[in-house]
Order: sequence, then structure tokens, then C-alpha cells
Amino acid sequence: MKQTDLLTKTTKENPKDEKSLNAQLLARGGFVDKLGAGIYTFLPLGLRVITKIEKIVREEIEKIGGQEVLMPSLHPKENWEKTGRWDVEEMYKIKDENLGLGWTHEEIITSLVKKHILSSKDLPKYIYQIQNKFRNEPRAKSGILRGKEFIMKDLYSFHSSEKDLDEYYEKVKVAYRNIYNRCGIGEKTYLTLAGGGTFSKYSHEFQTITDAGEDIIYVCDKCKEATNKEVYEGKGNCDCEVKEMKAIEVGNIFKLGTKYSEAFGLKDENGNLIVMGCYGVGISRLMGAIVEVFNDGKGIIWPKSVAPYAVHLICIDGGKTEIKSQSDEIYSILQKQNIEVLYDNRDDKTAGEKLNDCDLIGIPLRMVISAKTLKDDSVEVKERGSDEVKIVKIKELIDFLKHDL
Ligand code: ATP
Ligand code: MG
Repeated sequence: MKQTDLLTKTTKENPKDEKSLNAQLLARGGFVDKLGAGIYTFLPLGLRVITKIEKIVREEIEKIGGQEVLMPSLHPKENWEKTGRWDVEEMYKIKDENLGLGWTHEEIITSLVKKHILSSKDLPKYIYQIQNKFRNEPRAKSGILRGKEFIMKDLYSFHSSEKDLDEYYEKVKVAYRNIYNRCGIGEKTYLTLAGGGTFSKYSHEFQTITDAGEDIIYVCDKCKEATNKEVYEGKGNCDCEVKEMKAIEVGNIFKLGTKYSEAFGLKDENGNLIVMGCYGVGISRLMGAIVEVFNDGKGIIWPKSVAPYAVHLICIDGGKTEIKSQSDEIYSILQKQNIEVLYDNRDDKTAGEKLNDCDLIGIPLRMVISAKTLKDDSVEVKERGSDEVKIVKIKELIDFLKHDL
């Protein structure tokens, strides 16, 4: 993508109405645009990050048997009255119609699968979607960490026994661990014992350590597990010493038992209620959490796996068409090799402005072409998170990148 073609422009100043770091950096870099409190557009660069996170999530959920569907956002009142959740604070309601905007989907999926799960032979089933949720969040001040509209992956599992649910629950823990590892925040993300289980006393959250977090958790670094303050009773899961940390919930897993199958009469051929579990990942929150974890004074430092582009190619031409045409050529060579490149080909920016924008946007590999590097038939390559500059010969560039990316 040539930067002269890109819709967005970077800004030097933080938006006045954004207090949270993720929103400031994402807005300045041209990843998101705020439409209202807790309501964001994902711009071209931002949507590329979301798409990469979604791909990782889809791969890991499909590895544990997930089948993707897409359920509607508009939900009939009738479904929600069955569980008594129509009047909860989260629900946005459509005036003059018996419809609400979906803030979660237990009431919809349970009535849906009832048409297809007819006997114990149809079990187990694992159904998921990636979809926009709507929630009346009165305190939407944390950028994309807490939206009134946000992207969630929600998976629901259906079993013939509690034992089968328990086994699947453990598989989901592994899939979630893989997701957070692949998104680069694995080391900062803890499996956390939490309250709020509808059926078992506890549920589990995946909490990422960051000062922007709205939860307090007690972390055991030895056992790599944590306990949410809500359920902490002076002792975690283990006997080790724990540290109090701020964290953001990037996912959670619940054993639902038969709560929803009872409300909707979801039974097998013998009249046994089907046992359920549900599992969420906040896709857009995860993007915000990554930004909160990986940044410095200059901007974002994207992990390779979710970066909008792999390479930021920067032409510092000093007005010389010769340099410009050589860097245009390198751009097209990289494109032919299917290397994802953002190409700063702008004529109206100084070298300093381009390098600052590059740090702000945070693409993992910076590649600079200038009169100085071309004298040597080379380009200058630097990783976003490091100060080490490497000089790579143009003819060795593709090999270098194939090795490095
Ligand atoms: P929180 O305690 O932060 O409000 P929650 O317990 O309400 O989260 P769930 O209903 O379990 O969250 O939703 C599943 C996942 O969706 C959460 O783990 C979180 O990552 C994400 N999520 C929840 N609410 C929001 C929101 N308002 N904006 C962005 N992501 C959210
Ligand atoms: Mg909530």
C-alpha cells in the first residue's frame, strides 16, 4: 500500500477527548476513528490488525472443533424473557419494537441449536461466531478496551454430560493460551480464577497485565495463574506468594450447565437437558490490550503476528527522481514476493516526519532507502523495537526478509 493512496493521515497531537493510551496511539496512527463515546470505526490499518487477530482466533477455535456461524444483532424480546435478562442494564432496546441489540448470544444460540440437536447422537457440538456486540456501558472511557459496540468471538458448546463439558473446557483453555501466545501477549496474560459462574461457583478469565486494566488480580508468577480480586480469599489457587496487579480481561470461559437448556427446553431424545459452556474473546479489546502492552514514547510496537504490514518501506529522496524510481522498484519487488509492505512514497514530508510516523504506526520492520544507502546498493533495515540498524544489499533483500519475517 502506497501511503499516498492510504485514506488516513497521522496526527501529532492526541485527540482532546481521549484519555486512554490505546485510543490516543490508535487514533494518531490512523487505526481507529471515534464516532462517539465507546463507538469506533476501524480504519484500513486498524482493520488489518483486527483481521489478523480474527484469523488466529478462527484457526485455534477450529482446531478444537468450532463451526462458525453468524447470528443477528437484532434480538426478539421473547428470547430474552425466557431467561429474565430482557431488563438488564447492558441491553439496548429498540423503541416501539420488541427487539433488543445483542450483548451476548446464549438466548439466541440455544433456540437455534434446538432445531438441529435432537438426540445424544448429535452431541457434542461447538458453535462460534465473530460478531459485533452492543452494550450499554456507562463508563466507556478506555478506548477500544470498553466499547458500546465491540467485536467479540463467542463460542458455545453442547454436551451430553458434565464430564464431557469438563474435558472440552480444558481444551478451550489450551486454545485460548495459544491465541494469546500467537497474538504476542502470552507472557503478560494469566489464566485467572473468577466468580460469576452460573453453574459451577467459579469461571475463568484470561487477564492481561496492564495499568490500563480495570480489574485487580493476584498473580502467582511461579504457577503462572492468578485470582480475581472479586473472589480472592487471602489465598490464590496455590500457596505461593502473590502480587497484586492491574489487568484487563481479554477473554473468559464459563460452564453454563443446564441454565439455558432448561429455559429453552433443549433436551435429548430421553428428555435429559443438554449441558452447555460458553467462551468469549474480546477481539477489539485484544487489539487495544496489545497496544497498551507494546508501545514506547514514540508509538506502537506491533508483534509481527498482528502487525498491519510486515515492512514499512521509507523513501528519503531529497527530491531526486532517481532515488524515487529505485525505491518504487524495490516496492514492486517486495509486492511480487507477497511481502506485506506499507510504502512511504510521500513527497511532501521531511525525512524526520516520515521516521516519526513510522515509529507511531509501529510496523515491525523499517526499511529506509536514501541517496546514502543507494550509493552502496543497499537499504537500511531496523526492527521497530530495537536500535540496531542493519545494512542489507538490495540483491540480498528478499532472502534477508524471507529469513526474518
Ligand atoms: P467486563 O468485566 O470487562 O465488562 P464481561 O465480563 O462483561 O467483561 P463477557 O460478557 O464475558 O465480558 O464478554 C466476553 C469478552 O468480551 C470479555 O472477556 C472481554 O474481553 C470482551 N468484552 C466485554 N465487554 C466489552 C466491551 N464493552 N468492549 C470490548 N470488549 C468487551
Ligand atoms: Mg461487562
